[in-house]
Amino acid sequence: MTPPLDRPDRLWSLHHTADEVARRNRHIYDAMLHGSEHVRVGNFTALGSVDLRLLFDLYDARFFDGLLDRMLREDGVGEVALRPSTRMTRAAGKTYVRRERRRTPAGVVDRVEYEIAVSTMLLFQNFREPGRPVTVGGLVCGDRLEILQRIFEHELLHLAEFLAWGQSSCSAANFHALSRRIFGHEGATHDLVTPRERAAAVYQVRLGDRVSFEHEGRQRVGVVNRITKRATVLVEDPQGRPYSDGRIYMTYYVPIPSLTKASG
Ligand SMILES: [Zn+2]
Repeated sequence: MTPPLDRPDRLWSLHHTADEVARRNRHIYDAMLHGSEHVRVGNFTALGSVDLRLLFDLYDARFFDGLLDRMLREDGVGEVALRPSTRMTRAAGKTYVRRERRRTPAGVVDRVEYEIAVSTMLLFQNFREPGRPVTVGGLVCGDRLEILQRIFEHELLHLAEFLAWGQSSCSAANFHALSRRIFGHEGATHDLVTPRERAAAVYQVRLGDRVSFEHEGRQRVGVVNRITKRATVLVEDPQGRPYSDGRIYMTYYVPIPSLTKASG
């Protein structure tokens, strides 16, 4: 399915000066604090699909002149699914396209669905305690709402590219040029505090550390093998499974605050 040919031009016609970007962003920031269900302060602690829906509508109106919604309608695609994700630990956001070709009695029908996921897991690692500043898209963020806005802007550009070109890549020149023109972004990366960094900064727990923790009333000692939402701790145990180093381990998933560093 090839998108209508005028779409790239319609997107390229969107161009906001730095002042306009700042003013529109401020408006969206305030509108979120006033209108959204969970985002009542800059460092909010809950986020639902309804809040992302409001954010989507605000951005489409303020930055895209309603073009996103118009393209979706033209394609006969329903609303973009908007989902807070508690599992994504590295990517701050993701935009998915699902294309499906179905044979029906009336002929072959192409169906497309779009989804944007935002990592609340990552979002809520930031601004928990006074810490370092963070940047997303090359812009410094002062609180979680500003992080959310920058993440969302990035994902909306993915959506816009999919709708106009049928494909999208944030490592390509097309994306960078669009993100500069529309949002004033200076890059397509983030340096958000990740669970791994926070574990090291707040709890002094790092990969490879020997740690102890309590499990069903018994003290266990093992090595931290992975840090995502929880730490994956390998404990030598004959009832476990062989590992790549030739030893036998049981695997435990332990909340990071429950770990104590073990000596040796
Ligand atoms: Zn991207």
